[in-house]
Amino acid sequence: AGTQNVNELQAILEKQSTGGSRILVFVRLRPMAKREKEGGSRSCVRIVNRREVYLTEFATENDYLRLKRLRGRHFTFDASFPDLTTQQEVYSTTTAELVEAVLQGRNGSVFCYGATGAGKTYTMLGTVENPGVMVLAIKDLFNKIRQRSCDGNHEVHLSYLEVYNETVRDLLSPGRPLVLREDKQGIVAHGLTQYRAYSTDEVMDLLLQGNQNRTTEPTRVNETSSRSHAILQVVVEYRVKDASNNVVNRVGKLSLIDLAGSERALATDQRTLRSLEGANINRSLLALSSCINALVEGKKHVPYRNSKLTQLLKDSLGGACNTVMIANISPSNLSFGETQNTLHWADRAKEIRTKAYDANEEILQVPESETDQAKLLLELQKEN
Ligand code: ADP
Ligand code: MG
Repeated sequence: AGTQNVNELQAILEKQSTGGSRILVFVRLRPMAKREKEGGSRSCVRIVNRREVYLTEFATENDYLRLKRLRGRHFTFDASFPDLTTQQEVYSTTTAELVEAVLQGRNGSVFCYGATGAGKTYTMLGTVENPGVMVLAIKDLFNKIRQRSCDGNHEVHLSYLEVYNETVRDLLSPGRPLVLREDKQGIVAHGLTQYRAYSTDEVMDLLLQGNQNRTTEPTRVNETSSRSHAILQVVVEYRVKDASNNVVNRVGKLSLIDLAGSERALATDQRTLRSLEGANINRSLLALSSCINALVEGKKHVPYRNSKLTQLLKDSLGGACNTVMIANISPSNLSFGETQNTLHWADRAKEIRTKAYDANEEILQVPESETDQAKLLLELQKEN
């Protein structure tokens, strides 16, 4: 069943990158924390067959078997990861294909969302011992580049930014807020650091440092803020020869996003959404849920302009992009409401369709003869 699942996922991703398709949605359940166990927490989530999630207010196996039909709720996702799933497995299933696509000049993005404490930062950034998707993606990227070193020369640039309280900040070089501008490639943060990366080794340090720069709430100084969104952008640019021997410049962008805590902010209907708008609630997350609603309902107008986050993610959500969502959930019955809300949104996100598009490719030179081709190749190798 495992391989079949992987093949299915590949088929969906292939469709995404050629013909437009829905976004892939995964759920990751984190282990029960020691603190929760000691506090008498019971587990209210079960994952079956690596796909199905049962949410029930009943804890024991007996309760579950007896009552699931009465009180439980059942969801199905592209894959659901039980609490002992490794970082590597999460990476391989959710993101490895996107890294491959980025090398073909396509864009991809992976979001983690869920309540504060549900495991978003662990999934995205991870720890030095157990690095997460951001680090594993860059590692894999460099491995793949090395394997194809004869293909041409590559450049990898990293940017790491934060949206906090409708302000965009550079996490690699903290300072004044950045201004968003629209250019040919879409919305860009003006003056954002583009860090040229040469190897994996430096990346974990860089990202940990960047994460330290995330805004902390005055009341929770030991914790990065539950209201800060962190976005890592990995841009890969390289030159290759295409089938007709033209030298082309390919650019692929991978965005890896650790969203702010979704507690209270992701209202499930428009009325609640409106009533929350005046309150001191994360505007970017509200705007994100409005955009998801509009996209799912096939509305002509999608309100991307309502927040900094949705402006930055415009091409990832509705545009030409392979998009993956990872919903993080806690097993504890104390988080039942938040988990229910997160699963609801994950379920809804399955309905978003992405657009069809071609690779980002620009023809640089058309060789005129065999000798020109040879010269060109030599030049490329030299630069490399
Ligand atoms: P969030 O970013 O969603 O607020 P964190 O990623 O900081 O949540 O996770 C909260 C705590 O749970 C952290 O101490 C983290 O190390 C731990 N944790 C989260 N997910 C896992 C996991 N899959 N395995 C082990 N520990 C985890
Ligand atoms: Mg976090």
